[in-house]
Amino acid sequence: MKPKVAFFSFTSCEGCQLMFLNLEDQFLDILSEVEIVNFREAMKEVLSDEYDVAMIEGSITRPSDAEEAKKLRERSKIVVAFGACAVIGGVNAIKNFQPQEEVRKYVYDGKWETYETMPTVALDQVIKVDYRIYGCPPDRKEILEVLTSLLLGKKPNIPDYPVCVECRLAENVCVFDKGMVCTGPVTRAGCGAICPAFGNKCLGCRGLISDPNTNAEKDLLAERGLTVEDILKEFRMFDGLSEVSK
Ligand code: SF4
Ligand code: SF4
Ligand code: SF4
Repeated sequence: MKPKVAFFSFTSCEGCQLMFLNLEDQFLDILSEVEIVNFREAMKEVLSDEYDVAMIEGSITRPSDAEEAKKLRERSKIVVAFGACAVIGGVNAIKNFQPQEEVRKYVYDGKWETYETMPTVALDQVIKVDYRIYGCPPDRKEILEVLTSLLLGKKPNIPDYPVCVECRLAENVCVFDKGMVCTGPVTRAGCGAICPAFGNKCLGCRGLISDPNTNAEKDLLAERGLTVEDILKEFRMFDGLSEVSK
């Protein structure tokens, strides 16, 4: 019997699921190892209500989301928080910095009282999460790394060092030299420093490394008269739930 894998999404753009579907070269290999039993973005059929692995995308922004997530947890042996929205709240947490009633009125206009809402939380604030796939959207190699690891019952090899390491190895021009403030010194690597590679600053979509105060590239910041704390303030775009964004 192949492990049953199901995909679900809460508040999200469903881009993480799209990244999974973009694994074109590996897709047949994946299907030879697992049975996909629920995947609204890719198939109509629902083949099971019990799952070995639930890949859950999106953050929790409504009380009904939280209840649904708890039901999914009861029916799943392994839960994977899939992408920045699920793992760290992602862009959905930006609304937490505004008065919630104002946000409801802005989004739903005249019908704002009809729709339920709550401040955004990450998936692991509602249910136990077993594995995390970082990024907005996640890197395809990392999706494969986590899937393979959980099927083998081992810990995935996910970097816990800053994006700057990958950026320097790639010999990118540091965007600080162009006057930008980049969160690379405190953001978890694994994306290949793709934003600086194209001349953009890192906005921290993969979340913080475990110990930003000791591991961050302090010299790089000191050269520009900045501290780790200055960079941490930039984290509201994707990581608004973290303490450093408060
Ligand atoms: S993490 Fe990014 S790509 Fe994935 S659902 Fe959220 S906004 Fe979309
Ligand atoms: S600060 Fe940003 S641009 Fe500079 S080396 Fe680090 S990741 Fe690259
Ligand atoms: S460089 Fe930063 S913002 Fe860009 S993908 Fe990597 S972690 Fe995300």
